[in-house]
Amino acid sequence: METGGNSLPSGSDAMKRKVFYFYDPEVGNYYYGQGHAMKPHRIRMTHALLAHYGLLQHMHVVKPVPARDRDLCRFHADDYVSFLRAITPETQQDQFRQLKRFNVGEDCPVFDGLYSFCQTYAGGSVGGAVKLNHGHCDIAINWAGGLHHAKKCEASGFCYVNDIVLAILELLKVHERVLYVDIDIHHGDGVEEAFYTTDRVMTVSFHKFGDYFPGTGDIRDIGHAKGKYYSLNVPLDDGIDDESYQSLFKPIVGKVMEIFRPGAVVLQCGADSLSGDRLGCFNLSIKGHAECVRYMRSFNVPLLLLGGGGYTIRNVARCWCYETGVALGIELDDKMPQHEFYEYFGPDYALHVAPSNMENKNCRQSLDEIRAMLLANLSELHHAPSVQFQERPPDTVLPEADEDQDDEDERWDPDSDMDVDDDIKHLSGRVKREFLQPEPNDMENVKEGEHAREMDAMLAGTAYLKASNSGSISIDEPHIKLEQENSNKSADQPIELNHE
Ligand SMILES: [Zn+2]
Repeated sequence: METGGNSLPSGSDAMKRKVFYFYDPEVGNYYYGQGHAMKPHRIRMTHALLAHYGLLQHMHVVKPVPARDRDLCRFHADDYVSFLRAITPETQQDQFRQLKRFNVGEDCPVFDGLYSFCQTYAGGSVGGAVKLNHGHCDIAINWAGGLHHAKKCEASGFCYVNDIVLAILELLKVHERVLYVDIDIHHGDGVEEAFYTTDRVMTVSFHKFGDYFPGTGDIRDIGHAKGKYYSLNVPLDDGIDDESYQSLFKPIVGKVMEIFRPGAVVLQCGADSLSGDRLGCFNLSIKGHAECVRYMRSFNVPLLLLGGGGYTIRNVARCWCYETGVALGIELDDKMPQHEFYEYFGPDYALHVAPSNMENKNCRQSLDEIRAMLLANLSELHHAPSVQFQERPPDTVLPEADEDQDDEDERWDPDSDMDVDDDIKHLSGRVKREFLQPEPNDMENVKEGEHAREMDAMLAGTAYLKASNSGSISIDEPHIKLEQENSNKSADQPIELNHE
């Protein structure tokens, strides 16, 4: 039995969870520009719905501490982060080469406050990971996060920094294995790429595939080297409905949970997979989308819920509000409360919207084949991998204290993570897929060796316990971590422990 730390119940799914919700009141003011599909205002609309449905009082509401340069540089290249910090709408005319180099300017425009926007949404996701690591909550939510396309030194698909990669790196300080699940309509390419060669992070992305941005996410892309079989891609076609979606989601994710046994789960809840999305082409209802949240929650594993895409903003707000209710175990009335954005939700002013009658191009046979192929890949994994552990690295940012969470001894020490920073910045930006398919046997391949070394360097900063006699931690003893944390006076000091 677990004692202390997380209050995850071991019983019924209907039981309550302790939830931290990260929200910065400024986030809705950032503006990508006229006509741009990405509207941070949707985060403010979500928040207003949460407030008027009375959900805020059931959660700890936390304003995120902005991520700093060094926090972002744990994944991103120094020169890319410096560029994001310096660029403004006024100076961009003189920066043509840099803009091109970092893919900033069109889909990912320069706008006022761009860097503080990045700091805010990344700060929320990393802050959520820290809260989960400390066992202060069971579920952390950052609807401003989930920007899954950003690469090490490149913006992509409305994403500038990859808060998800940063949050997973934080979770890996405490958890041996982290599962990433992505239900955005677009492939979660930035996260998959970052962890493509490690067995400590499994990425599972459900997405539209075929003549669709970003073009990656083929079912045959399964990870490489140590990471082989630790990337799963579920390619889907237009018009997928709730029933078809869940006929893949539950068997696949259920099997992943059974075999991989993650210590924490990150769920990217991109809402562009909903019916009627301005850029999407799926036909999911809000309940169908939220069923993924309900299902992940049912495993009683620390869960980080993030936003992502979503371009019909009234439906995004509906969806993330409803999913916050699911996280809390509170079912919301379909009749929407009066609030400042009420007029967006006419004519019916209801929380739920009916899916359309569009054709579902995912036939039974193709769904069966996809499921069979992915379950076959999973069967290649006979047991969850273990890690040689060193010491637990110090925390990154902590969420700005709300009234009852101001623990002096958990203050993050800005000078204590130098070694982690140094390790992470060597991470390779891009795994060259052309080397990876079919499986290379060429051990002379220098590039491949480089990738492996860089991945080792990145993850070296994330081991959390001294190795036991066996050199690994028994995954049947989840309480070890909690005892560790409870027995340690200062959570910011590296932990040295013996497990005799
Ligand atoms: Zn998307």
